[in-house]
Amino acid sequence: MNFENQTVLITGGGRGIGETIALKFATLGADIALLDSNPNFDNIIKSTKLLGSKCITFQADVTDFESIDAILKKISEEQGGISILVNNAGITKDELFMRMKPEQWSKVIDVNLNGIFNVTKAVIRQMIKQRFGRIINISSVVGFTGNPGQVNYSSTKSAIIGFTKSLAREVGSRGITVNAVAPGFIDTPMTQILNENQREVITKQIPLGRMGSAEDIANSVAFLASKEASYITGSILHVNGGMF
Ligand code: NDP
Repeated sequence: MNFENQTVLITGGGRGIGETIALKFATLGADIALLDSNPNFDNIIKSTKLLGSKCITFQADVTDFESIDAILKKISEEQGGISILVNNAGITKDELFMRMKPEQWSKVIDVNLNGIFNVTKAVIRQMIKQRFGRIINISSVVGFTGNPGQVNYSSTKSAIIGFTKSLAREVGSRGITVNAVAPGFIDTPMTQILNENQREVITKQIPLGRMGSAEDIANSVAFLASKEASYITGSILHVNGGMF
């Protein structure tokens, strides 16, 4: 796989799975653009530089529709049009449904679902003009299985599947593919809040006997963006060690 002369925009790319996806693409020759609400990009800037990639970063919120256009303009000026978009930013606000507050519901919908709308809406115009684009949305195994305490989160992760499949049908004729990766339990800051006991219970449900790594997800995302996957669109790649 080779992504030379292509720019990849990764939301939530400052840490966890997003950061590892950025490193993977940089290793494969791409230039990187990162949009993350967390301003700490030092590590990823250093690493991409060592790999010889350009890396432009923006502290921004995917829920802020107005700011995204200006960010895209800046990326285009510095690194050219975006060929690949990875909608990775996501949050959890777990609570049993009976106790879930409207704010816990709306915040998760806003970041995980409206965020994807906002960023994709801005990027797709460029992709249509280019007659080329790769969009990869990060869903989750719980969007398929459900999970107690995650009615809000799993609703967004299921909705991402409908988004992916419908948009794939709309833009296929313009040379744009739209796919999703549905990770299982991946060892990142998001899951480091789980205690040892919870980790043990989860690991027992995974046929491959371990939590996934961010690299497992980055490899799948890179594949879906590659020319080797150019006939795949509207698909979901399950990367979960066999748990679903
Ligand atoms: P992390 O929490 O480790 O990283 C998410 C990054 O996204 C953080 O840097 C965070 O910044 C940023 N972010 C959060 N909200 C926004 C926002 N509104 N605008 C821009 N950036 C934002 O998560 P993971 O790396 O674990 O997860 C990445 C994706 O993978 C998510 O969509 C998640 O739902 C999905 N996923 C993860 C699984 C796992 O087991 N880890 C399993 C299945 C799916 P900040 O620090 O400011 O919050």
